[in-house]
Order: sequence, then C-alpha cells, then structure tokens
Amino acid sequence: MKFIIDLDGTLLNGDQSNLDSVEFMKYLNDRNFDYLVMTNSIKSPSLIQEKLKNVGIDIGIDKVMNPINAINCYLKIRGLSNVFVVGSQMEIEQIDGVINNENPEIVILLDFEKTNVNYNKLQEVFSLICKGIPVITASGSNYYLKNGQKVLDTGSFACLLETAGEMTIPVFGKPSYEYFMSGLRLLNASSREVIVIGDDWKTDIKGALEVGCKPALIKSGKYVEGDELNVPQAMCLESFMDVFKVDLRS
Ligand SMILES: [Mg+2]
Repeated sequence: MKFIIDLDGTLLNGDQSNLDSVEFMKYLNDRNFDYLVMTNSIKSPSLIQEKLKNVGIDIGIDKVMNPINAINCYLKIRGLSNVFVVGSQMEIEQIDGVINNENPEIVILLDFEKTNVNYNKLQEVFSLICKGIPVITASGSNYYLKNGQKVLDTGSFACLLETAGEMTIPVFGKPSYEYFMSGLRLLNASSREVIVIGDDWKTDIKGALEVGCKPALIKSGKYVEGDELNVPQAMCLESFMDVFKVDLRS
C-alpha cells in the first residue's frame, strides 16, 4: 500500500501539525511505506520540507510533489525543453527547461500576481496560442484568499486565454487527472495500490476517484459535516491511524 497525502488542512493545520499527523508520518517512515505529499502550492519543495520539519515531520525532498514537479515530469516525458514561463524568477528557476520566449515549444502559466502581468504579456501568450503552441497551467483556481480577501489567481487568466484561444488549458494541480497520474508515475504505482488522504472532497477525493485510487476523507481542514455524502466511495477518517483499521480490500 502506498499513499498520496495532502498538505494544508491534512498534515498541517496552518503552521501546526494536524490531528495525529506526526505519529502517522513517523509510522510510514519507520516502516518504509512509499508516499508523496501532494500540494497545489507552488512554494519550492525545500520550503515545504522545512515547514513540515518545524512541526516534527521529517520527509525527503523527493517526497514533496507540487505542480512544478508535475510540470517537470510532463516536460521530461514529452521531451520538451524550450519554454515560455509566466511566473516569478524563483518559480522560473524551478522549471527544468530553457527559457526561449521567441520559439518556445510550450507555454507554462505559474503566477500572474507577483510578476504583475499586463496586457502586452497576455497578448504575447495569446500570439503563441494562435501559432499553435500548447499551454499548461499550475493552477485552475480562479481566486485565492489573501488576508481574508478574494484575489485573482492564475486560473482566471487561464480561463481568459482559453476563451480567446478557443482551447482548453490542462491544469497541473488537484483535482486534475494529469496531476494525479504524475503522482502515480513518481510513486511507480498502479492506482489500486494507492490511498489518497485529503480534507477537500472536491480536489483530493474527486481527483483520487478519477484515477482509480482509494480515497480517504479526513475530518479536518476544509472538511464540513456532510461532505462525505458527496463522495460515498471514500472512507472517512477521524484520525490518520484509522486508515489502517479500515478493510483495505473493500
Ligand atoms: Mg487540503
């Protein structure tokens, strides 16, 4: 049995550990279980590793999967190296590709906020779409919460470009099929071997079901009473260690 485990609201509750996550991760490490910590955050894996270390969870950097890892996996499989990236310098440096704004093989949308993208930049991407250059995005979210206020996220700009280009932009974040498939490739596992643990039925659980993994909805983070009714196939966990009490053959 292998695991894909969500980060925020699952292993972590803000900057603190959540439920028995420390005990559970120690259990997995001590018994050499294979797992990935899968997040939609595009913070660098080393920052995520450090955040977990601060609460007493030790994981190798290779166990952190974020949209940038998945994008790198995709570039490698497709043999793509010339890229056009919308994102901050720190994010661009994480992409395993050569920046080639004139003749890219693919456009990668990461962050529009920190780079303060303007009309000309959007037009530049649109021109590439018109030339038939494929586009992928690290996020399908239209907004996120910043100090309690809704602010535009990359997904909104991806929607704009999809409308203008009359095409669909694949999302490399949960719940996308491609994202979970990248996770299975990294784990070298078939979907039936993998349990996905997460607090969000719309992203973690729906995504898990789509690829055929066994989903486990943990009652913390984004979970609200009754969420399990939306995903009756998922096992419901009050604590992480409960996952071992459920009959996994069912
Ligand atoms: Mg979560």
